[in-house]
Amino acid sequence: MSKKILVVGEIRDGEFRHVSFEGIGAAKQLSGDGETVGVLLGKSVSALANKMIHFGADRVITVEHDNLSQYTPEGFTQALQAVVEQENPDGILLGHTSMGKDLAPKLASRIGSGLVSDVVSMEVSGDDVVFIRPIYSGKAFEKITVEEGLTFATIRPNNIPALEKDESRTGDVASLEVDVKDLQTIIKEVVKNTSSGIDLSEASVIVSGGRGMKGEENFKILDELAEVLNGAVGASRGACDAEYCDYALQIGQTGKVVTPDLYIAVGLSGAIQHVAGMSNSKIIVAINKDPEAEIFQIADYGIVGDLFDIVPKLTAEFKKV
Ligand code: FAD
Repeated sequence: MSKKILVVGEIRDGEFRHVSFEGIGAAKQLSGDGETVGVLLGKSVSALANKMIHFGADRVITVEHDNLSQYTPEGFTQALQAVVEQENPDGILLGHTSMGKDLAPKLASRIGSGLVSDVVSMEVSGDDVVFIRPIYSGKAFEKITVEEGLTFATIRPNNIPALEKDESRTGDVASLEVDVKDLQTIIKEVVKNTSSGIDLSEASVIVSGGRGMKGEENFKILDELAEVLNGAVGASRGACDAEYCDYALQIGQTGKVVTPDLYIAVGLSGAIQHVAGMSNSKIIVAINKDPEAEIFQIADYGIVGDLFDIVPKLTAEFKKV
């Protein structure tokens, strides 16, 4: 097996999103004796290219342009399409992030390719690749093989391991000139909604509150617990609908899909639509005063009791560690 796989790196605030390196890890499995080629699109991104090589890319192609300073679907599609036309790859991988979910289908339709989205694992045996992705809100998994054409997929963050970083790895970094123009979207400002600054979809610890929080002001006890655990705060839709927090925090079928190492569900019932967004978390801890709450069915650890009593105690204990 010898394939050329492009991995589109994603940069936010001057830093790579870790899923970029997980994409390289996946591409290494797919490419066999072939090549894993990192792709970086942005305004001044070349300085970051070597990091993709340290995580396993054989070489990196950058496209730099003023019109790529912020993600826009048209700008990034133009740039990425030019890279694909130059490289003629066997496969393309992106993170299943807000950017990847927007960019991948647009590019797929432009280049006439299929797309496998939201891949959580792969079975690779020689030339045969089976992509595994959740369906029916995470109640089942389907296996997909690509019979012909490009192997084009988005991969869910925190599921496919990245390679170990090795700063002694070397590889070429080349730039491609693309005239990115006629954009219909101009990003004027990016407003962040996570209080901790940690991106929910990549957080390794998430403390999530539900309607049981009873008020916006009470979310501060979740902020405090998340802070000691270096995590992010999420929410159920019940909490968002009740205006306790912003919809940017919503986790679930119609919110964000997360896969942290530790998910602490506080005062939320575990409705199927919520569980769809967090059931793949490695360890789930539920705090609920109702011992019959559905969330306990998927929890690894359950604490039955009043969250207003338990959460501050947990925070105090973790502070001692
Ligand atoms: P509730 O179900 O009201 O649960 C509150 C929990 O808090 C209860 O279990 C209660 O025992 C507990 N509690 C109360 N007080 C305390 C206390 N003092 N201490 C400890 N525990 C306490 N929901 C999502 O979350 N994400 C989605 O993406 C989503 N998408 C949806 C899409 C569709 C099409 C539909 C129809 C619904 C969707 N929902 C989604 C809504 C979902 O069905 C539930 O209504 C919602 O998740 C309930 O939120 P909750 O668990 O916070 O509230």
